[in-house]
Amino acid sequence: MRRRVILLGPPGSGKGTVAAQLKNECGFDHFSTGHWLRQEVARGSALGRQASLFLERGELVPDEVVLALVKDALSNAQADVGYLSDGFPRTLAQARAFDAWSSPRGLGIEQVIYFECSEALVLNRITGRRSCGSCGRVYHVTLVPPGQPGRCDDCAGELTQRTDDTESVVRKRFKIYLRETEPLIDFYRQQAKLDVVNASQSVDVMMSQTMSLLQR
Ligand code: ADP
Ligand code: ZN
Repeated sequence: MRRRVILLGPPGSGKGTVAAQLKNECGFDHFSTGHWLRQEVARGSALGRQASLFLERGELVPDEVVLALVKDALSNAQADVGYLSDGFPRTLAQARAFDAWSSPRGLGIEQVIYFECSEALVLNRITGRRSCGSCGRVYHVTLVPPGQPGRCDDCAGELTQRTDDTESVVRKRFKIYLRETEPLIDFYRQQAKLDVVNASQSVDVMMSQTMSLLQR
């Protein structure tokens, strides 16, 4: 099974939901740069203050800031435990810098799974999205409801709607995704690391397809 994996796809493609399930079922060291950044903002750290305007506007946080976060977290990572990344890298510059940093450390990406999804579907999913303020786990009011309304199944944290999950900000995030992140699909295809999941399917189907791709 591949242990160092990147999930790629537009906001709302379901990659965060699949990532959380994979973490529970396969023990991946799952990380989400978006969740880390929101935590920094909530904490009011210097980094959080630097990132908050970008997050609110639905714009990308500067590459150096995100790269520093990821390198710091993975510096102690073990290659055999691996990682499962949701939301990083998001630009070609991040992808190139991460390759240059991770490969010599034995932490290079083994596989990239691309969640292919249309803008219409993204909009519908994101407006119903709720996430846990403590652990970051993502739900959907009808598609992936929690056991108890408003409470996280994992840690009983409060579920809230993100301020960047409004229709106008989501449209902007999708545009930025097309411009900045979509070029990564060809980048990883050329490295023969890319696999594709049709992200218009149910979470269960995406989950089982992702599991079998990881075992290929
Ligand atoms: P989504 O995948 O739904 O956009 P995320 O939680 O992954 O949600 O990201 C939310 C926000 O966090 C992004 O809009 C961006 O501002 C910031 N962010 C997350 N990851 C990155 C990254 N790799 N590079 C730059 N900004 C990022
Ligand atoms: Zn939680």
